[in-house]
Amino acid sequence: MSAQSLPIVRDNARPLPGLHKGPPMTSTTECEQCQRAQTNKGWGCYRMQCLQCCARLVASARPSRPHQEAMLAAIERFPGAPSRDAVLAGLK
Ligand SMILES: [Zn+2]
Repeated sequence: MSAQSLPIVRDNARPLPGLHKGPPMTSTTECEQCQRAQTNKGWGCYRMQCLQCCARLVASARPSRPHQEAMLAAIERFPGAPSRDAVLAGLK
């Protein structure tokens, strides 16, 4: 399955509206999207520089392994995003 087939995978200059670009996060408590996700079940916005957001994004693709792989590939394309290994570790 090609990651290119998923709408979330676009060039870095034009992220989807729900994908927030910004400086690298040093603390998840500073992440507005994470805070909202804690109070809004199914919150669909993710900050690609935030490890917890990336973990939520990949987890949202469960149980589809191909979709999870596509999400990881998408995350890797964002400047400043956590590494694949870090995201996978964040899932546990
Ligand atoms: Zn976050």
